[in-house]
Amino acid sequence: MTAGKKTGKRDTCRGAAPALPRHIPLPDSAPDPQLVPVPNAAVRGLSHQILRTDIAGMPLEWIDYREAVRLYHMRQVAYSCGSMLYRLRGGINARSGRRTVVEVNSIVATIGHSSNPGTLRADYVPPLNNETLFKRDGYLCMYCGGRFPTQLLSRDHIRPFCRGGQDIWTNVITACRRCNNAKASRTPEEADMQLLAVPFTPTYAEYIYLKGRRVLADQMEYLLAHFPRSSPLHERLRRWLS
Ligand SMILES: [Zn+2]
Repeated sequence: MTAGKKTGKRDTCRGAAPALPRHIPLPDSAPDPQLVPVPNAAVRGLSHQILRTDIAGMPLEWIDYREAVRLYHMRQVAYSCGSMLYRLRGGINARSGRRTVVEVNSIVATIGHSSNPGTLRADYVPPLNNETLFKRDGYLCMYCGGRFPTQLLSRDHIRPFCRGGQDIWTNVITACRRCNNAKASRTPEEADMQLLAVPFTPTYAEYIYLKGRRVLADQMEYLLAHFPRSSPLHERLRRWLS
């Protein structure tokens, strides 16, 4: 499970565009190569990902703190929310006499031309891969209900691939290797095996969540607000957050 932990400050902008955008202290010079990142006390290491959104608050992608700093310097960050993850301290700026300090939050909204593909195309379908498929299904075998490490899971085609079944989100589920072998080239009905959940195609926001590593609690809550009401991930994530 990759659910995150809380990191101090409360999220100030849940859902779409935030009501209370935080002030961003913009660096007043070109990127300082000496910037030293200092993680928030509640955050271990520098590997936490930052959720980038568009100006309207629609989730776009995960970026690392270096990319976030670059966006601040390019003046492409319109506002930020969530908790402060990293404070980067640089040298003294010769022009202003002030020390360069950049604070990077867990969620940054950016200006620019990139848009959420899910809002541009109603028929958007995210790419299918095992990493996100297993996470969609909570790392549970959808036949026996057991939870397994990734290396013991497999992608099962409900209607078998060799019998014309497609390699699409709605025809694949997570299965342990034992169940997958037992089912073999049969449909669940033929194998007398019952599916525990109906497979679904993630929306773009759901896909961003599924792609995230160690998603923090405030990022998860933010993404949840962008999931469809009918998303099966709501109940699962609420359980993890409680
Ligand atoms: Zn199984």
